[in-house]
Amino acid sequence: PVQGVPPTNLTAEQLLDGLLTPEFGSRSCQSRYEFASYHHNKRKHKPSLYLLAKLRRHEALQKRCGPGTAPYRAAIRQLKSSNGAAGAGTEDCRYLVSISYRGLGNRMLATASAFLHAVLTERALLVHQYSHDVGALFCEPFPGTTWLLPSSGWLGGGFPLAHLGSYGNGSKESLGNMLKADVLSVGPHGNASWSDSDGRRRPPYVYLHLEGGLDFHDKLFYCDEHQRLLRGAPWLLMKTDSYLVPGLFLLPSFQEELARMFPDKEAAFHHIGWYVFHPVNDVWRAVTGYYGDHLAGAGQRIGIQIRVFRSKQKPLKHVLDQVLSCVRREKLLHLPETTSSSSSNTSNTPADHQAVLVTSLSSWYYERVRDEYGGGRVHQPSHEGQQKWGDTSHDRRALSEMYLLSTCDVLVTTGFSTFGYVAQGLGGIRPWIMPAIRSWEPDRDDRMRCRTHRACEPCPSSPASTRRPTMTAR
Ligand code: GDP
Repeated sequence: PVQGVPPTNLTAEQLLDGLLTPEFGSRSCQSRYEFASYHHNKRKHKPSLYLLAKLRRHEALQKRCGPGTAPYRAAIRQLKSSNGAAGAGTEDCRYLVSISYRGLGNRMLATASAFLHAVLTERALLVHQYSHDVGALFCEPFPGTTWLLPSSGWLGGGFPLAHLGSYGNGSKESLGNMLKADVLSVGPHGNASWSDSDGRRRPPYVYLHLEGGLDFHDKLFYCDEHQRLLRGAPWLLMKTDSYLVPGLFLLPSFQEELARMFPDKEAAFHHIGWYVFHPVNDVWRAVTGYYGDHLAGAGQRIGIQIRVFRSKQKPLKHVLDQVLSCVRREKLLHLPETTSSSSSNTSNTPADHQAVLVTSLSSWYYERVRDEYGGGRVHQPSHEGQQKWGDTSHDRRALSEMYLLSTCDVLVTTGFSTFGYVAQGLGGIRPWIMPAIRSWEPDRDDRMRCRTHRACEPCPSSPASTRRPTMTAR
């Protein structure tokens, strides 16, 4: 990738207090060094020095092992030779291929999880471009190399395994299935090794099935013994649509390291997201253009994200009522004629200085909020109608809206949405979240009240995917 000339005059704010390396050119990816200015004065979470040191080391590893290097070519040869023990470790480069899927929010949380696992286990991270174009959405996160998994035809060492998207719980290369078939095993005292001193051939890669429906043996990923075993594998393929970071925090062998990297563990995604994800220039121009036209002049920005999990995006009045009840009750939005109130949640920003950003697949919610709160200050960047798969321009709009939401001072979300989690995590915002009750009743019922989320950290999308197995179960 073209890195351009490194800018010399970057400020600590632009470099996010050292989270970002100054090694990139600023033109090739404007969002990288500009995003901070949209969070000016409200950035609460500073990265630890330990995290910064880990990131610099990881960047060196990505550069040393990335596509096009001799270690990468050697590792590809090893993968083709189908014997993971042959020559393993000679180049000291091991790889984690992230296979993410579903909507963009899911994919970003999955990629962030793979990144953290790669850093913790000193592997180069490569992302599979399954049915969507990572390169059309995000800039390269690591200087002097690429994180895109080369396609099979690539001359510098194309990736030989095909159809990565179709790996599943039935794949014989999965950790769970290889443990069941005794291709891999952990000794009686928890000792595990990848070497072939016992004469057994080790596979060159292990597929980690970490999506919903993972079974007992797949979940052994969350055990220290199995992490030790996996350390020897030259290649790991990790497939998930979920946020696995809370699960990594449960592993005793990672805990000390993670505590030093993220003293405030509730801000892990905030730092990872700011490090890894940088929208490409034209997505970034859409973000900054919209922000400049609609949000910049406001004293306070309120983001409302409405995500309804239905295939047909028919407007649901009870969802709207719930959102309106939340903003009224918590006095988040002022009606044009009102000014201030005694509630502690209330901002003293007058109504005409509040800008409201509504994001949703449907325009109906936006129109109702606009009708109630006054037209000029309520905005919706797009209403796509429905979620679309494999559509890069659709994904680009979604990405720009996540970034716009993250610039807000207050966030109200309908919950359970990874789209919303990414926005809250990037923004470092504790959102107001709607209760997870399907049949809504009038707000007499206290259970219907929206609540502030306890952190800006995303929830794991599937709690089962991060629950460690009980070792006594078998
Ligand atoms: P989740 O399904 O809510 O967890 O979030 P995902 O991001 O994984 O998948 C939802 C997808 O639907 C997004 O990635 C977008 O493609 C689309 N989508 C949902 N809500 C919105 C929205 O408010 N604006 C835009 N532009 N797209 C949306």
